[in-house]
Amino acid sequence: MKPVPKSPNWMLSALEERKQQDLMRQTVTLDSPQIPHTNINAQGYTAFCSNDYLGLANHPKLIKAMHDTAQQYGVGGGSSHLVCGHLSPHQQLEEALADWLGYERVMLFSTGYMANLGVISALAGKHRPVVQDKLNHASLIDGALLAQAPLRRYLHGNVQSAEKLLVRSTIPGLLITDGVFSMDGDVAPLAELSKLAIEHDWMFMVDDAHGLGCLGEEGKGCLSLAGLDAATLPILVGTFGKAFGTAGAFVATSHDYADYLTQFARPYIYTTAMSPAMAGATLASLRMIQSAEGQERRERLAQHIVYFRQRIQSLPVTLMESDTAIQPIIVGDSKAALRISEQLKLLGVWCTAIRPPTVPIGSSRLRITLSASHSKADLVLLCDSLEHVLTANF
Ligand SMILES: *Cc1c(COP(=O)(O)O)cnc(C)c1O
Repeated sequence: MKPVPKSPNWMLSALEERKQQDLMRQTVTLDSPQIPHTNINAQGYTAFCSNDYLGLANHPKLIKAMHDTAQQYGVGGGSSHLVCGHLSPHQQLEEALADWLGYERVMLFSTGYMANLGVISALAGKHRPVVQDKLNHASLIDGALLAQAPLRRYLHGNVQSAEKLLVRSTIPGLLITDGVFSMDGDVAPLAELSKLAIEHDWMFMVDDAHGLGCLGEEGKGCLSLAGLDAATLPILVGTFGKAFGTAGAFVATSHDYADYLTQFARPYIYTTAMSPAMAGATLASLRMIQSAEGQERRERLAQHIVYFRQRIQSLPVTLMESDTAIQPIIVGDSKAALRISEQLKLLGVWCTAIRPPTVPIGSSRLRITLSASHSKADLVLLCDSLEHVLTANF
């Protein structure tokens, strides 16, 4: 190998600063599928940090659907949806999702990050502002930046604070919230926010990455929990990388919005369509979510959540107001969060410490996530280990 040229000083000092603050991030390689019992460096761990909430990422039916679709349609999208990359499996998936959620149209995107960039950059702009929750996902913030739209953020989950910002704006724009907040696990006051948007003639958009598949009737997510529909929630983004267990994302909306996004959402237009095989696997995942097995998986997950909260209640930590699969334990200090995560690892429990800038400074946490693929014994191991480690630390 040739010698590497010296890296710029600004880069080295930024890295050094991250290290000093215990904020350095690195990838860890899993030598197993996305299942609770993982292997890292030939060491076995039970993982509690995956977003595979229903345990579908390694489900035989999805694997078979991917294989069968690949046999018939290949693995590559080949071009963008608008050139010649929109294949039958994509169309079938779009129609099935639209039918399931009760929307006129669904458009697929390659990732949730790109769906949010695409939708927001097309709908917002210099003269169409964005108002969003302070704890919204990074991709929703970045969408507003890409749109070059005026951006205001309201206090987390606070409808009065949102209203103030809407009233203060002289022109209407786009009101956006996560459905389930990804780092906290709580659910946004969607019915109230929808009412607010309608009252002030703002567009309303929800990113339900963590609710879809898990919550509501048939796993329809926050939409169903809050009693909203295509009229009261005109722009719904969902992702496939979480409960669906595959990859990609979609926006469910009306004909007019979809036609508009098809012309103006650059992250839709200038990128290769998702793999048709992935679309096939995702359709199988949707059928699973709608089926009795999907319902059983949601019920098992709900039981795990109840058990976990009962056990942790007695420990010297504060539980967040969350009824979802995301059950964070706030530690505060980044160094302490890393230490606790390491101590859990020694007991065979793997849960990554989440630190700033992903979460606000001083709120480093263990983002514990539960899955239908965990067994009762896994839950017992988790709670016993937490009891042991947290009592020793606090
Ligand atoms: C994970 C996530 C995304 C990004 O989705 P990807 O498909 O992983 O790019 C967007 N929004 C929220 C709220 C998320 O949690």
